Amino acid sequence: MYRSYSYLEEGRDFQAFKFPPEVGRVPSTVVSTTPNQEERVARLMREHLMISLHDHPTLVPENIFELPELIRQGRDFTAYDGLRASRLHVVFDNMLDGTSMITSKSGWKWDDVLYDLGMRLSDFAHQEYVRVVHRVSDIEAARSHGQIGFVMSVEGAMPIENELDRVDILYGFGVRLMGLVYSEGNALGGGLKESRDGGLTKFGRQVVRRMNQLGMAIDVSHTGGRTALDAIECSETPIFVTHAGARALWDTPRMKPDCVIKALAEKGGVFGIEAAPHTTLTANHPRHLLESYMEHFEYVANLVGIDHVAFGPDTLYGDHAGLHQVFAKAMSIDSAQTGPSFPEVPYVDGLENPSEFPNIIRWLVVHGYSDADIAKAAGENIMRVLQKVWVP
Ligand SMILES: [Zn+2]
Repeated sequence: MYRSYSYLEEGRDFQAFKFPPEVGRVPSTVVSTTPNQEERVARLMREHLMISLHDHPTLVPENIFELPELIRQGRDFTAYDGLRASRLHVVFDNMLDGTSMITSKSGWKWDDVLYDLGMRLSDFAHQEYVRVVHRVSDIEAARSHGQIGFVMSVEGAMPIENELDRVDILYGFGVRLMGLVYSEGNALGGGLKESRDGGLTKFGRQVVRRMNQLGMAIDVSHTGGRTALDAIECSETPIFVTHAGARALWDTPRMKPDCVIKALAEKGGVFGIEAAPHTTLTANHPRHLLESYMEHFEYVANLVGIDHVAFGPDTLYGDHAGLHQVFAKAMSIDSAQTGPSFPEVPYVDGLENPSEFPNIIRWLVVHGYSDADIAKAAGENIMRVLQKVWVP
């Protein structure tokens, strides 16, 4: 089985790190099903497109404090075996995002993002399972060949600085979805950590127009509320919140208020539910686990309809809670989690890494969702938006 960069000699050509197992790192709970239900889960996952709208299907070192050193090497290690276990057909991969500190202390540098993209693409070019998706038809092509479709995504547009043409360059490197603003405000608009959000700037509007022209999907997961509403209005095609939850259930800046969720849905957009540790909590389930996650899913589905919700778990292979400690400042953890207090967990039980995607389908089956509704939330809703945004 191919492993990342195995076309090179580990230890001689690149620095070796000890990684945790890709499956079964921690005793995460499998949703309990009857044999009939499990058969239905398997059939649904075979017959319908399974898409993760936001994930980081890469490995972080067993000793999480070695992660900054791994990043400085510029090589992100894809968890190929873990991905096979996920039974996903498509994954939106967000690479190093705010932790892409290859040459920088603060992240989001243009050179670092290109370095990250180029290195990942070099790795992918040496194997058969991951297929980088450039247009809608690549998704079916990947599925029919038993491959997983990879959508290269960038969580924030800070790296383009004030250079509009860099959006085209990212597109050329394969990027098919971009967040306008990460938590810290940039030249495009306001981020969720800012106390004032002036909305989408003139430059931000130019970027939205260029993304529409190119056929690159727009994400406002980390923007402030005003900027999100402006982007929804300004874009000619529907946009995404790829990974967030409902502020009505958990009042933190990282969650979205009802007005944003409704405006997004009214324009045909889709809202992916986030599962990174300590994000989608609820008063009923303040200890983060699959139940808290699904409560956010049901809230959004009830608010705007099953046609406008999807799953963007935002998980990875390794100690995610530890990663938040190591990169707390870069990821604005403090400002994103300002709100009610909660017990910290070492991992999100039931949705610890991308391989646990089947647990979402199990939960929906056990809770009486129809095949049609499961198919919508698991992939069809996302496809409907991509068909309007991407090149066919
Ligand atoms: Zn994010």
